[in-house]
Amino acid sequence: MQGFTATTSPAPFAPPAGFTPLSPEYDPWDPIRSLRAYGRHALTSVEFTTTHLCNMRCEHCAVGDSLAMTEGAHLPLDLILRRLDEVERLETISLTGGEPTFREETVKQVLLPLLRYARSRGIRTQLNSNVTLDYARYELIAPYLDVMHISFNYTEAADFHGVGFARTGREVGLGAATRMYERMMDNARRLAEGGLFVSAESMINFRTHEKMGDIHKLIAEMGCRRHEVHPMYPSSFAANLPVLSKEQMRIAVDGLLDARDPRIWMLFGTLPFYACGGDPLERQLLQRLRTEPNVTVRNDPDGRNRVNVNLFSGDVYVTDFAAVPPFGNVKTEKLDDVFDRWQAHEMQQRLNCHCDAAGCCGPNLLVTDMYYRDVDFTSRRAVL
Ligand code: SF4
Repeated sequence: MQGFTATTSPAPFAPPAGFTPLSPEYDPWDPIRSLRAYGRHALTSVEFTTTHLCNMRCEHCAVGDSLAMTEGAHLPLDLILRRLDEVERLETISLTGGEPTFREETVKQVLLPLLRYARSRGIRTQLNSNVTLDYARYELIAPYLDVMHISFNYTEAADFHGVGFARTGREVGLGAATRMYERMMDNARRLAEGGLFVSAESMINFRTHEKMGDIHKLIAEMGCRRHEVHPMYPSSFAANLPVLSKEQMRIAVDGLLDARDPRIWMLFGTLPFYACGGDPLERQLLQRLRTEPNVTVRNDPDGRNRVNVNLFSGDVYVTDFAAVPPFGNVKTEKLDDVFDRWQAHEMQQRLNCHCDAAGCCGPNLLVTDMYYRDVDFTSRRAVL
């Protein structure tokens, strides 16, 4: 057990002294760690959908279709904590939305108790937030949080205005958007200065692929310790946006590696390149990703070591792939039991490959659906 006492040190949001620092060598969200430790995929991570409310409507939002204007009550917290107690190998918790801090009541009655619970068990936590609201909300939870995960896909306020309110259904003025943009950057900076690990995620898509280097520069200036980068996949609001070819994706990743600040941890995820593939340029990029310092490629946690729990309905999701409906419900089942059932499912088995030397445990359903519909990954092997 690792407890935590609030402190008046100059870094009030720094993790407790006994906690292993998050780093390219220690990323407890990566399912390859639990696969290696237990010899099979194991549930070590739980993500909670804490709200469907949000002050933004980004054009690419991966949960856009589930956003709402109002919502009911959360499930009783003691049921959720009991379900977490039962997860034998729990290592990480992620809190997502919507914008989890949208209502102050959610911050105080849901986020804070879950974060305090996690701290008391030595479990690492991440909050996915747009950090555009009052700093006071973030300041309240920062002392108990391990990773503040923000989205950042912009080079200036006009980008933020164009992307962040595309699906609001009403006009949002550039002036108002600019104020939010500046507050977001200011909040991220203040949290980072306070010692919090701020990780900014950017997506490679039709808007960003040629300006990833400039986006990265602003992320570095805000004091973020990590830049997380994923291709955009066509789900939810992004379903009808233009998609990039694998070649455009590869060029964008290569260019970003050239432009990056080497002091910042670059974490790539859901890339459509695999060590079992035959394309020489993709293989070259994979080699570069493997060997450059401070760069990691994380395997996708969804359905590998993580489930998502909706805190209103109790539904448990094993992947954000639209074709897979909820797989169970916390009102009636243990999370380990839901997870084990999913592991035996044909859909999971179809992609259940593992090449340890490449640190790879296969593509996820979204990647295969977009780029590899007819490929049987279970019959392929990494060539290093
Ligand atoms: S684990 Fe699967 S996707 Fe990864 S290199 Fe091996 S066969 Fe390819």
